[in-house]
Order: sequence, then structure tokens, then C-alpha cells
Amino acid sequence: MGRRKKIVQECERLMDEPENIRNIAIAAHVDHGKTTLSDNLLAGAGMISDETAGEQLAMDTEEDEQERGITIDAANVSMTHEYEDTNHLINLIDTPGHVDFGGDVTRAMRAVDGALVVVDAVEGAMPQTETVLRQALREGVKPTLFINKVDRLISELQEGPEEMQQRLLSVISDVNELIRGMTQDMDDIEDWTVSVEDGTVGFGSALYKWGVSMPSMQRTGMDFAEIMELERADKRQELHEKTPLSDVVLDMVCEHFPNPVDAQPRRIPRIWRGDDESELAEQMRLVDENGDVVFMVTDISMDPHAGEIASGRVFSGSLEKGQELYVSGTAGKNRVQSVGIYMGGEREEVEQVPAGNIAAVTGLRDAIAGSTVSSVDMTPFESIEHISEPVITKA
Ligand code: GDP
Repeated sequence: MGRRKKIVQECERLMDEPENIRNIAIAAHVDHGKTTLSDNLLAGAGMISDETAGEQLAMDTEEDEQERGITIDAANVSMTHEYEDTNHLINLIDTPGHVDFGGDVTRAMRAVDGALVVVDAVEGAMPQTETVLRQALREGVKPTLFINKVDRLISELQEGPEEMQQRLLSVISDVNELIRGMTQDMDDIEDWTVSVEDGTVGFGSALYKWGVSMPSMQRTGMDFAEIMELERADKRQELHEKTPLSDVVLDMVCEHFPNPVDAQPRRIPRIWRGDDESELAEQMRLVDENGDVVFMVTDISMDPHAGEIASGRVFSGSLEKGQELYVSGTAGKNRVQSVGIYMGGEREEVEQVPAGNIAAVTGLRDAIAGSTVSSVDMTPFESIEHISEPVITKA
């Protein structure tokens, strides 16, 4: 059996274990390194080769898509990662960094439970950092922080350890101030500020593929002095091998982002105003794969062969080919033609996609981004609010 086929099978197996699923987005101000980081994660998970990571092949551009003659959905990727002897399924949704795509960012946030916020160490938190954080927190999505381009502080700006530490701490404190300000009135969210000590902050270089966090430093025995020495000596390959970025970030994802079973009971009341005493509400809170089908479409893309593909989050039940489903705001039902997941960016058809996962569905011809698709007639999810500061518009 080919390697890819094996990975697909493993993903299918993991789809049935919601405790081991993490649905995440990477969000950042433009140019802070989101694409480079995403490629690192894919390479680390064995989805693309290590050499191509950093050349922005997997998550980028339609040009690449055309060249390779296959469907690459820039927005969705599933991968597996072993953490504490357990394999995890990580569904990653890419988010556009540019302010004009604010709507897409917010829609992506509806499908995920955790947001990895990338901040450039040199530039610090920028307006778009604030916007993506606001979008995440509004949707009840938990943030963690990755401070990128630390290589520049060391090799280019020639900062000493103290100066560098000050700079990193000031980025963390700025981000925490934003998080605190945005969550102070939210009583369903406990303290979501990030810290080096608890492992919700990582730093490193997406370009040179190394990263560190407090837990990783404890594990590898590397300290900052050694990292600075290797980076200064241009021994970046060694640094990458000793402390690979993808391990650090994917461990952080598995450890600190909630799985769907933990996240959905908190998120459902925030995004759905239906009867919270109903059986349907209970099925969504429990991530019940045998319950009624509830699927929220967050993105529609075009496939030259399969036509329109609706992707989004399955909150309850299991999506399967042949199901006749309601689409909110339209009369009649649509028939599911195929269901799939995104493997390393390519759509892979599977038998079914159970609750807690990100699915790619064809046949939902009436669906648009924001549609609630379900096997029973139900109150649709709350519309997704765009935040493209300073104005707020409705989707
Ligand atoms: P995005 O707009 O957030 O997706 O950012 P990209 O991943 O496209 O990166 C923007 C630019 O920053 C590119 O030229 C990258 O090569 C560069 N870059 C990304 N990460 C790093 C890093 O860790 N160190 C350095 N020096 N450059 C980086």
C-alpha cells in the first residue's frame, strides 16, 4: 500500500475518535509567516517533502494548482501527528492574511476550536493581529501564540539575550493585553491569555524550520544560548534537526487546543440560538456521530471535475453520500453526491465524515458559505459577522 493511502486510512480511523481531533486555524497579519509555517507543519506531518516546505507549495496559489493539475484547496488540510504516544488528526484551515479577506477569516473561525496566531518578532502585533484575535475570540476559539522570524533578531539585528528576551516578552504582553480586553465580558471563557511557562507560546523561524517552547526546551535540553549560537553560526540545518518547528507547534496544538468534545458544549450556545433543551442541542454538545446531521458550510470552492465543493464543520451526525439534507434559507433538499476530507490539501473521498470533523461535500447546490445543512429542519446557526475594522458588516 502506498504511503499516501496509509495516511488516508489513518485519518479515516482517527475521524471516529473526536478526543484525538484538533480543528485549528493559523491566523496572522500579512507577511508574518503563516504560509511558511503551514508548509512546515505539512512537511513535519509527512504530507509534503521537507525540502519543499518554505517554498510555499502546498498552501499557496492557484498557479500551482493548475501546474499540478489537481485540486488543491488553499483553505483546508488534514494531517496526523503523534503526541504522547497517541496519534492525533489535525484539521488545519488556512486563513487569508489580507484585510480584504476578513470575511473568509471569520468563516474559517466558525469551523475550528483553536487559532494559532503568528506574530513577526520584528514587527510585533499589528492591526491585523488584533482583528484575527477578535474574530477568534468572538467565535469562542482559543488562541495560542507563535512568535516567528526570531532568526532575524539573532542574525540580522544582532540582539543580545536580554534585548531579545525583552522584545519577545513585549510581544507576548501586547497580545495578552488584546486577549484580556476582548474576553473580559465573556463569562464562558476563562483565562485565555498565553504564557511561555504554560507552553501556549512558541517561538522560532518558519523560514529555517526551527522552533522552541518551554516544554520543547525541557524535552530537548536545548537552551536559548545554544539556539543563539547555532543560529549565529549559520548552523540552521542542525537547529532544525535538533528542534524541528513542526514538532514544537503540533505538540502545542495537541496539548493546548480543545478537542471537539470539550469545545462544542461551550461553542454551541455561542453560535446557535435554537432550543438548548432539545435533543438536537444535546447531540451537538456531545458531538454525537449517530445523531441528526448538522453541518455548517464555511467555504465554497470550485473543482474543475466535481463542481462546487462545500467545506465546513460537522457538528452532529455523520455525513454520507446519498443523504437528502435541508439547506438553510432555501426550499427543498439537496442530495449529497460525495463526502471527503482534505489530505495535504487534496480532496480525498471517504465513506463518511462523522461529527467533530471538517468535511468537503459535493451535491449541495443551494449551499453558500454560512449555510446550515441538516437532516432535520432546524434553527440555522448565527450568521457569521465579518470584522474588517473599523466597520462591522453581516455575512
Ligand atoms: P504570510 O503572508 O503570513 O503567509 O507570510 P509568508 O509565509 O508568505 O512569509 C512572508 C515573507 O516572510 C516571505 O518572504 C518568507 O520567506 C518570510 N519569512 C517567513 N517566515 C520567516 C522567518 O521565520 N524568518 C525570516 N527571516 N523570514 C521569514
